[in-house]
Amino acid sequence: MSKTCPKCSGRMEQGFLLELKDGNQKAATEWIEGAVEKAWYGLKIKGKKRLAVETFRCGRCTYLESYAPEA
Ligand SMILES: [Zn+2]
Repeated sequence: MSKTCPKCSGRMEQGFLLELKDGNQKAATEWIEGAVEKAWYGLKIKGKKRLAVETFRCGRCTYLESYAPEA
């Protein structure tokens, strides 16, 4: 799957953004519905819709564009 860059019309390649904490790999970034809700253990995500995020990068201007398709 390839897309065309909306900024410069270059070719965009699919990838994803990785969440790093203290240099350790955690997981690919996800889209969570609604506003941020804080909880004592971190951020509240239970019961919220979660989708994997696909991020495309333009090989010409390096612009990043993200999509969260329905699972
Ligand atoms: Zn571009």
